[in-house]
Amino acid sequence: MSLENIRIVMINTSHPGNIGAAARVMKNMGLKRLYLVQPKSFPNYEATAMASGASDLLANAVVCDSFEEALAGCHLVLGTTARERKIQHEFINAREAGLLTADETKQQQVALVFGRERTGLTNDETGLCHKLINIPTNPDYSSLNVASAVQIVSYEVMMSHASHDSAAANSSIEYASSENVQRFYQHLEQTLVDIDFLKVKQSPQLMSKLRHIYNRVRLSEDEVNILRGILTKTQKITSK
Ligand code: SAH
Repeated sequence: MSLENIRIVMINTSHPGNIGAAARVMKNMGLKRLYLVQPKSFPNYEATAMASGASDLLANAVVCDSFEEALAGCHLVLGTTARERKIQHEFINAREAGLLTADETKQQQVALVFGRERTGLTNDETGLCHKLINIPTNPDYSSLNVASAVQIVSYEVMMSHASHDSAAANSSIEYASSENVQRFYQHLEQTLVDIDFLKVKQSPQLMSKLRHIYNRVRLSEDEVNILRGILTKTQKITSK
């Protein structure tokens, strides 16, 4: 699963509780790989307490001496920042970041980077990021708790991966051709006449209402075959 290719990188985190809270929300959203660059205190009982059932992510966390070390092997690096700095950088929101990672992570490794509680990321650090994610907030109070920021970005990543996966699953459905759907409608109409349900003069709208129901579903070839099988059997019984 491509979520495996996503790592959360937390830089210089001061409060161990924030590391634990981040691990917890990561596990909630299906992410596993946590990288910690020079955390102030780790391992730490507050981190373990806040992680709750996600202590396995803490046990597997990779502690690094430098940001560069945490980025080793990554093809896409997305930093997060509360303010839109006056630096030349492309900003995206958390939803766009989710979509970008869903496109990217079939083979590629992606880092989502979170800064220090008080001062965020340095300019040198944002300089190593391909794009910066800003989570839209109240402009008068834009700085989120770092674990909350991890939560929102992880949620968007999880959602866009889920819809990517279901779109891929749907693309393997063989939808019925319009000719086959038209033949099904003719077959349905004839059967309804045969069983005396449809008297065309009395209910001119019935067929268009039924067509509307089936069009909403977008029938597959397989489903058209099943429905036509039922109609054939119904016609056989009523002709006896
Ligand atoms: N003054 C700092 C705030 C640090 S908050 C700054 O400008 O970034 C700690 C971390 O939480 C940030 O480094 C970032 O990783 C994340 N964060 C907080 N609010 C955010 C927001 N609105 N959008 C994106 N990330 C945010």
